[in-house]
Amino acid sequence: MRIGIIGAGQLGQMLGHAAHDLGMECIFVDPSDLPPAQECGEVLKAPFDDADALAHLARICDVVSYEFENVSVAALKSISDIVPVFPPPDALQHAQDRLAEKLLFQGLGIPIPGFYPVDGRADLDAAVAAVGLPMVLKTRRFGYDGKGQALIRNAADLDQAWDALGGAALIAEAWVQFDYEVSAIGARNQAGEIISFPLSQNQHVGGVLHSSRAPLEDEVLRQRAEGYLHRMLEKLEYVGVLALELFVANDQLLANEFAPRVHNSGHWTIEGAQPSQFTAHLLAITGAKLAAPNMRGFAGMLNLLGEIPNTARDLAIGTLHDYGKDPRPGRKLGHITVLADSAVERDQQMSKIEKIVNLLSVENVTQAQPEQAKPGKLAQK
Ligand code: AMP
Repeated sequence: MRIGIIGAGQLGQMLGHAAHDLGMECIFVDPSDLPPAQECGEVLKAPFDDADALAHLARICDVVSYEFENVSVAALKSISDIVPVFPPPDALQHAQDRLAEKLLFQGLGIPIPGFYPVDGRADLDAAVAAVGLPMVLKTRRFGYDGKGQALIRNAADLDQAWDALGGAALIAEAWVQFDYEVSAIGARNQAGEIISFPLSQNQHVGGVLHSSRAPLEDEVLRQRAEGYLHRMLEKLEYVGVLALELFVANDQLLANEFAPRVHNSGHWTIEGAQPSQFTAHLLAITGAKLAAPNMRGFAGMLNLLGEIPNTARDLAIGTLHDYGKDPRPGRKLGHITVLADSAVERDQQMSKIEKIVNLLSVENVTQAQPEQAKPGKLAQK
C-alpha cells in the first residue's frame, strides 16, 4: 500500500515511521530542502499546491493524505477524481476558516465561546457589545499556535488590535478563563467505525503546546468530549484522525478548534497507546479495521522548542524524538515522551525532565512571542 502525504514535516515523519511498521510506503510532497520526513520515504520536491506534482502523486499512490492544514482545498479536490483523498477536503475547508468551524460546532450543538465575525473596524465595536471583554481577535484563516491573534482586555486595546490584524477577515471570541485545556483525538474509517483515544490534558505557553498528559481521568468529561468528537466525525463523513481541542471552564467543555490530522497533543500515543494516532490514521485511510486503543500506562509529552539541549539527549528517563530540524527560536524541534505506572509517577518524571532540560522550551516560546503571554498584550502574525 502506497500513501501520498502532502507535507514532509515532523507529522509526516511520524506517519512515515508508523507506515513502515505496517509494511506500507509513504511518498511526500514538500518544497523544503531536507524536510524531516525524508528519512522515511521519497520526497517529491515541489510546492504543496503544484498541480503536476500532486497529479503525479495521485497516480502513483493508493490514497493521499496531508499533514498540515494550509493545503489548498481546490488542489485536493482536483486530485480526488484520481485517488481517494482523506481526511475529506470538505473537513479541511471547515478547519481552515474559524468562522466556518464555529458554525459547524454550533450546528452540532457543541458548546463554544461567544464569537462575532469582524470584517471592518465598526464590527470590532459591535463585537465588544456582543461578546464582552476581554476578547481575543483572531484571523479567520492561516492562524496557528496563537499566531494571528490579539488579546483585547479593554476598549483602549481596540485600535492597536485593529492595526495589528485589520485587513484580513477576522473573528472575535470571548476570552475564556479556562481551568485547563484538553484534546479529544479519534479516528473514523471508511466503514464508519470510530475509535477514540483517552482525553489528553494540555498545557500551552504563549499559545504553543508545551506538554500533554493522558489519560485525563474524568469520566464525565471524557464521555462528553467523545460525544462531541463522534458528532463531528459522523457529520463530516470523516476518514482519518481528527483532533478536537477544548477548554474546560467550571466543568463546562467549550470547543476551541479542530485539526483534520494527527496532532501534537497526541504524540504521547507513540509510546503510550496501541495503536498510536499515526497508526490509527494510516489504518483508517487505507480501509483497514480499527481497534480501540489500549493504553500502555500513564503517558506524558514535553515539546522541545527552539533547540534540543544535550541534557535532553542524555536523559535516563523518557524517549526523545528529534525531528532533525534546524534550531530556530520557538520552532518545534522534537519532543520527549514518558510512560509510567501511575499519574503521580508520570508527573514526577515530567518535572524531573523539565528541570534537567532547563525548560528551554518554555523560555524560547516566551521569547518568540512575548506579547502573547498575558491578556491585554498583542500577538501579531
Ligand atoms: P488557537 O490558535 O486558537 O488554538 O489558540 C492557541 C491557544 O491560545 C489556545 O490553546 C489557548 O491556550 C489560547 N486561546 C485561544 N483562544 C482563546 C480564548 N477564546 N480564550 C482563552 N484562551 C484562548
